Amino acid sequence: MTAKRKPLYTVVIYPDWCKGCGICAAFCPKKVLRIDHQGKARVDREDECINCGFCELHCPDFAIVVRPRNGMGSSFPEPIPGTAATPCAPPGAAASPPSEAAQSPEPKKA
Ligand code: SF4
Ligand code: SF4
Repeated sequence: MTAKRKPLYTVVIYPDWCKGCGICAAFCPKKVLRIDHQGKARVDREDECINCGFCELHCPDFAIVVRPRNGMGSSFPEPIPGTAATPCAPPGAAASPPSEAAQSPEPKKA
């Protein structure tokens, strides 16, 4: 009997963006992914993921990301259940207020 390995990587699917094309599952060399009965990609065997990145690279809708489980090496935000997260925007991008110069529409005098 072999003990089940602890997953080294987290495979995250953004269901709102997934259209169920199956490309990720077809490219995955370890058969980690499948398309479920709702027509969405699903993670079946996360412990087998080798972080090759094929799924993330080939998804036409940016609906899947893979990152190390220790939280290092990723700039993607945690997905919020029931919402479409915005992996395109860097974390904190919208949080910083505009600079003073940007707030003052007064033109400079020559
Ligand atoms: S490649 Fe992307 S859109 Fe297609 S099934 Fe996989 S996660 Fe969904
Ligand atoms: S990173 Fe590679 S092994 Fe892991 S789920 Fe994606 S395609 Fe499969």
